[in-house]
Amino acid sequence: MGVFDRVAGEDYEQVVFNHDRSSGLRAIIAIHSTALGPALGGTRFWRFESEEAALTDALRLAKAMTYKNAAAGLDLGGGKAVILAESMGPKSEELLRAYGRFIDTLGGRYITAEDVGTSGEDMDMIHRETRWVTGISPAYGGSGDPSPATAYGVMQGLRAVATELWDDPSLAGRRFAVQGVGKVGYALVRHLIEAGAEAVVADVHPEHAERAAADFGVEVVDPVKIHAIACDVFVPCALGGVLNDETIPELRCAAVAGAANNQLLMPAHADVLHEAGILYAPDFIINAGGVINVADELNGYDERRARLRIEGIFGNVRRVLETARKEGITPARAASRVAEERIRAVGRIRLIRGPRAATF
Ligand code: NAD
Repeated sequence: MGVFDRVAGEDYEQVVFNHDRSSGLRAIIAIHSTALGPALGGTRFWRFESEEAALTDALRLAKAMTYKNAAAGLDLGGGKAVILAESMGPKSEELLRAYGRFIDTLGGRYITAEDVGTSGEDMDMIHRETRWVTGISPAYGGSGDPSPATAYGVMQGLRAVATELWDDPSLAGRRFAVQGVGKVGYALVRHLIEAGAEAVVADVHPEHAERAAADFGVEVVDPVKIHAIACDVFVPCALGGVLNDETIPELRCAAVAGAANNQLLMPAHADVLHEAGILYAPDFIINAGGVINVADELNGYDERRARLRIEGIFGNVRRVLETARKEGITPARAASRVAEERIRAVGRIRLIRGPRAATF
C-alpha cells in the first residue's frame, strides 16, 4: 500500500520525512490530529527492521497519542516521531540537534518528549535547537523524568478502580501484583505500601525486584507467574501485549490496571476480559500522568498545578468505567468514545472565528 493510502485510511494530517546525510539522521514525524491543539508525543529511537516498520510505528503511536491527550483533557493533539537508528549506541550531538532543527521547522505543530530509546538528556540537547520539546531538565525550566508523575497518576486510577469494585477508594489491605518494578513500577509500589496495601512484585531483572523487596519488604515472585498470582488487581508496569489468549485465562484478579502501554495484545482482548468478569482500566487513561506532567511545561512548569491535573485521572477512570457499566460496553470502547466525543465537541468550537481569522 502506498504512503498516501495509509495516511488517508486513518485520516492523518501530516507525515514528515527528515533526512540529514552528515549526521546520519533519518526521522519520521507523524501528526495524526491537531483538532485539539499542537500534536504532542514522544520520539522513539529504535533500530527498526525496515523503513516500513518505522512508518507503521510512527503512524500507530501518533494516533494513540490523539486519544490519550484528548481523554486526559489536554489542549493537545496527537503525534509521534521515530528516529531510525543505525545501531542502539549513543546518539551524537549532531544527530539530536539536526533532529531538533527539523522539529523547529514545524513551528510548534509537533511537540516532542522522551519515549523508548530517548532520555531527558536527549530532550535537553534537542532543546538547544527548538522550544517545541518537553520533558527537559528542571535546570532548563522543565519537569524532568515523567515516571514519578506516571506512578502518581496510576495511583489515582487504582483508587477509581477500587471505587468501582468495592465502593470505596481506599487501597488499604488490598493485594496488588506488580509486573515490572522499573521507573514507574518501583515508584508505584512505594505509593501502594504508603497507602497500606500489600504488593507482590516480579521483574525479569532480578536486581530490580530485589531492590523493591529490600526497600519495601514486598514479596518477589517468578516473572513468568506474576499475572497468575491471586490478588485484587494485576498491575502491568513492564511491556505491552501482556493481556492475551495465554495470560487472560490464568488471571486470578478482580481487575487489571497499570502503567504499561498497549496492554491488550489485540483490541478483541478487551472483550475476553469483559466476558471473564475482569475489570480493565484502559492503559491510555490511567497512565496519562507522565504526559499531563510534561504538557504543563508549555505553560511554564508548575509542579502543584501539574499534580492537581494528574489527580484528575481519578475522575477520568471513573467516567470511563461508569460509561462502560451503564452502556454495557467494554471500558476500552468507552475510553475511545470519551476521547472521540471530546475531539468532536471541542474541535468543533474552533470553527467559531474571530476578526483576525475573518481577514484571511
Ligand atoms: P522501565 O524500563 O524503567 O521499567 C520496566 C521494567 O519492567 C524493567 O525493570 C524491566 O526489567 C521489567 N520487565 C520487562 N519485561 C518484563 C517481564 N516480562 N516481566 C516482568 N518485568 C519485566 O520502564 P518504565 O518507564 O517504568 O515504564 C513501564 C511501562 O509503562 C512501559 O510499558 C512504558 O511504556 C509505560 N509508561 C511509562 C511512562 C513513564 O512515564 N515512564 C508513561 C506512560 C507509560
